[in-house]
Amino acid sequence: MTTKKKDIRALTKDQLREFFVNNGDKAFRGNQVYEWLWHKAAHTFDDMTNISKATREMLDQNFVINHIEVDTMQRSNDGTIKNAIKLHDGLVVESVLIPTEKRTTACVSSQVGCSLDCKFCATARLKRMRNLNADEIYDQVVAIDKQSRLYHNHKLTNIVFMGMGEPLMNYNNVIKAIDKITSEEGLGMAARRITLSTSGVPKMIKKMADDEVRFNLAVSLHSAIDEVRTSIMPFNSTFPLKDLKESLEYWYAKTKRKITYEYVVWNGINDRKEDIDALIKFCGYVPCKVNLIEYNPIDDGEFQQASERALNNYISNLEMHDITVNVRRSRGKDIDAACGQLANKS
Ligand code: SAH
Repeated sequence: MTTKKKDIRALTKDQLREFFVNNGDKAFRGNQVYEWLWHKAAHTFDDMTNISKATREMLDQNFVINHIEVDTMQRSNDGTIKNAIKLHDGLVVESVLIPTEKRTTACVSSQVGCSLDCKFCATARLKRMRNLNADEIYDQVVAIDKQSRLYHNHKLTNIVFMGMGEPLMNYNNVIKAIDKITSEEGLGMAARRITLSTSGVPKMIKKMADDEVRFNLAVSLHSAIDEVRTSIMPFNSTFPLKDLKESLEYWYAKTKRKITYEYVVWNGINDRKEDIDALIKFCGYVPCKVNLIEYNPIDDGEFQQASERALNNYISNLEMHDITVNVRRSRGKDIDAACGQLANKS
């Protein structure tokens, strides 16, 4: 009977060192292999040229290196690249490269599908199939970094967890991946260039604060009125705004990092004066800024981007209260690579 081989990248560096010692080799061999697995992102044991053939064969008998494959790649008129990423078990997620003048940003997925049910999001229509492993998240960044170098002549500068899935529902793997992305043994990127975007899971926001994470936090708010928020983001009934508020206060007290609120203004949903007033009040709780995101239609028109006038109304009122507000125009819309469009047509 053949036993299923273990994914070698599920092992920590210490476990890998221990494996070599137990097999009569030096612990140092573990360091070398670890470097191949992460820093050099090797896909096969045969790539590991400074490891003896016998050792490579022994590894091959015991382990697999699960890795992702860029299945299809689409390039938008604005330079945005959307990748369909095939996982080792055949499931597919999407990751996007978003170039601007000064930076290139990777938008990565944390789950296959999503368990939340945000009414305006295409990913919500796929049921959550499984969490991504740390190496599957890390590999998306490696793949997009390669594309950034190839098409834009410089390395990736930023990462946002705004692809498919809710990162705080796959916390351990997301944190493991970020550890690898930021460590010198991995990609050596600065944590402050990474933003985790969440629909807002209060318990996990507090945990992140306790864990003293160094990356940025964005919260998909979309409404600061429970009734409205629950109607478009049903899980708000489980995690109401007062719990979210409390967790954000906790986050700020511990980390002293400003929070970004992502917010789409829709016709007839959150375009009233009371919606603006509620947002202004919510913004008073902790230091923050607001990103007004352009709506990317996903369907038959149940949701419609509010008028320019309604948007300007938001902007002038927020600014009157000294709240920083940015308008984020969407990118890669023509290839369904914009926020909330992932999985739209696959
Ligand atoms: N689950 C996480 C990350 C994925 S969504 C979260 O909720 O934050 C990334 C961002 O895209 C979120 O702010 C989300 O609210 C927004 N979004 C989802 N669907 C969208 C759409 N159709 N148009 C514009 N933004 C959308």
